[in-house]
Amino acid sequence: MAPPTIRLNTGQQMPQVGMGTWKLDTATAADDIYNAIKAGYRLFDGACDYGNEKECGDGVARAIKEGIVKREDLFIVSKLWQTFHAKDKVEPICRRQLADWQVDYFDLFLIHFPVSLEYVDPSVRYPPGWFYDGESDIRVANVTNQETWTAMEGLVDAGLVRAIGVSNYQAQTLYDTLRYARIRPATLQVELHPYLQQTEIVRLAQAEGIAVTAYSSLGPASFVELDMDRAKSVTPLMGHPVIKAMADKYRKSTAQILLRWSTQRGMAVIPRASEPEFMAQNLACTSFDLDQVDMDRIAKMDLGLKFNQPTNVRGSPVCLPQDPKR
Ligand code: NAD
Repeated sequence: MAPPTIRLNTGQQMPQVGMGTWKLDTATAADDIYNAIKAGYRLFDGACDYGNEKECGDGVARAIKEGIVKREDLFIVSKLWQTFHAKDKVEPICRRQLADWQVDYFDLFLIHFPVSLEYVDPSVRYPPGWFYDGESDIRVANVTNQETWTAMEGLVDAGLVRAIGVSNYQAQTLYDTLRYARIRPATLQVELHPYLQQTEIVRLAQAEGIAVTAYSSLGPASFVELDMDRAKSVTPLMGHPVIKAMADKYRKSTAQILLRWSTQRGMAVIPRASEPEFMAQNLACTSFDLDQVDMDRIAKMDLGLKFNQPTNVRGSPVCLPQDPKR
């Protein structure tokens, strides 16, 4: 059964459960996307920075060629990387990303992070990542979020994207955007799991008619993969006794409990999986309801613990200059 959809402020229906593509290996990404489409996924969450949009596009193209889906059945999301925030860089890079995905429009295009970095030409390095020199030099560019948002609106006008949104914004940045937006953000994508519940910004976004997409819903799992100390030092959410007890009670997996906790509160989720079993479980996460006692129990697990923060990965490509560990 297809998962429910969320109606965006553009009138589009966005699948509430999609698949993430961060860290999908370029060797397998095309098959992962193709298999996910066969399993019933319709929304894919990509980004320039993930370095696999061409391969994801190959998976989409194969599924369309074989008649499994049509382009209009899919909801493809991508993101603008920070080195392309200047107004004259937004459309060219969006066109390149569309070419990689082998489609002529994105359903949704997001500002990945509200911080602009100096331009790196794609012929020099693609994706450019955080460092100007590819190694250690962080160069912030003198581009405002307003300039970037106005250029994003231009993508809608040009028919290259159907909706635009933001990611990793906090309340202040979102408020500010709403002051000058001619086209309001359709979605806000943020890290969100029981250890980082983001209650205030979720309330703000939903009150403003902006749909919220939760990323890294399974919590530390994705960041243990990066060998991040902060993620390794907490109880894995999928192994947490409270979540395990609920998995037993509802006869679901712990991943499904975590995903249901967000979807039951009206948010979209985009878990990433390559394993067919995990793909199927995640897609079926809206097929049951947690009772209020369990929703409240999870609400008490908030630690304000953010994993996807540039300074959290020691010696990694996401290490800001002021980080003492650098
Ligand atoms: P995730 O929370 O989806 O966790 C992925 C990990 O959990 C993988 O190791 C996967 O194998 C495992 N997993 C998935 N389903 C499982 C299941 N049913 N049972 C057991 N294990 C399971 O992590 P994520 O990839 O960080 O987040 C999801 C997506 O969100 C990303 O792929 C990306 O598209 C998006 N994202 C966006 C941003 C942003 O800055 N906007 C940042 C991070 C992630």
